[in-house]
Amino acid sequence: MNKPILLSTPHMGNYELEFVKQAFDTNWIAPVGPHVDAFEQEFCQVVGAVHGAAVSSGTAAIHLALQLVGVQSGDQVFCSTLTFIASANPITYLGAKPVFIDSDRTSWNMNPELLWEALQSRARIGKLPKAVVVVHLYGQSADIDPILAACNHYGIPLIEDAAESLGATYKGHSTGTYGRIGIYSFNGNKIITTSGGGMLVSQDEELITKARFLATQARDRAPHYQHSEIGYNYRLSNVLAGIGRGQLQVLSERVAARRRNFQIYQQGLGKLAGIKFMPEASFGKSTHWLTCLTIDPQAFGADREQVRLTLAKQQIESRPVWKPLHLQPVFAGCECIGGGVSEDLFTRGLCLPSGSNLTDEDLERVIQVIAGVYYKNRHNQTLLCC
Ligand SMILES: *Cc1c(COP(=O)(O)O)cnc(C)c1O
Repeated sequence: MNKPILLSTPHMGNYELEFVKQAFDTNWIAPVGPHVDAFEQEFCQVVGAVHGAAVSSGTAAIHLALQLVGVQSGDQVFCSTLTFIASANPITYLGAKPVFIDSDRTSWNMNPELLWEALQSRARIGKLPKAVVVVHLYGQSADIDPILAACNHYGIPLIEDAAESLGATYKGHSTGTYGRIGIYSFNGNKIITTSGGGMLVSQDEELITKARFLATQARDRAPHYQHSEIGYNYRLSNVLAGIGRGQLQVLSERVAARRRNFQIYQQGLGKLAGIKFMPEASFGKSTHWLTCLTIDPQAFGADREQVRLTLAKQQIESRPVWKPLHLQPVFAGCECIGGGVSEDLFTRGLCLPSGSNLTDEDLERVIQVIAGVYYKNRHNQTLLCC
């Protein structure tokens, strides 16, 4: 039996356990402590952010971000449609409604022209959204400049969901540092992990202070327990922040390894008819958190599902590209601006095993299975036509 090859698994470095041991030795087993403070500072240094608050998940960070920019019940929030559901779920936690925006073909991320048009027509009828959530998908930045320009023109705060793009840049600066608030995730499958966790960054110190306040049950300054607002229990554990500090030290190595995976896949599969890799947009540097490709069934001789199932038979995990949120049953009835590009990417797109801990043999096995599907079908076609 072949050893399983998974999509994206945790990859610890040499110092995480030491930091965790420090937490135990000093009895800081709590959702506050020196590791939390240090992790926030070190993280901000790495991404070039000014202020950061560590929280229990990326989803919690988005929830707080939306509330901090004033999203309330009955509001609308624009959001990328091609993404994981966690980008939009917190919109509904606040009683607001998502309006989804389709992708462009150059980055697979939010199409800035569609955003401009949608904001223009909303401005005309006086129904502008309260916020825009832009997602940087699979390690690649969206085209931030025109998106930010559109938001600024209409005075709408931009929230960057950089959960999948830690380590990626746009025009030389980290994704997540351009908008009013940026959020990151340290879930187990992300480029670095604390097993679970998230971060919220902003240039505005007041926002981050308010985020910490809301994340600790909104406790007023008083010796007794007093609360004038509804808060949450969203802070990151000091133990997990220790893991995060260790992981931060190897972030650049993890990025390099994932970019290398992409190159090896491209060398091995790029020449097969019908295979196209997710393009790397010229405006940024992708981490290739996941290597994604599309399969044109006509040219390739098999469709995405045939390839995925053949890989699964060999104990290799691959996944379809995100199902667009406007197609999710739970968001039935929500408006979507465009939609054809993300639907096509979902139909034909496949994410390959992409962990920074994959070996050359692992990568070669994946390549061999996919190439095998291609050549088998070629052969059958030749037989059929002769
Ligand atoms: C993983 C992810 C999140 C959520 O992060 P969690 O830490 O798992 O809550 C949000 N958005 C995107 C695009 C993600 O991939």
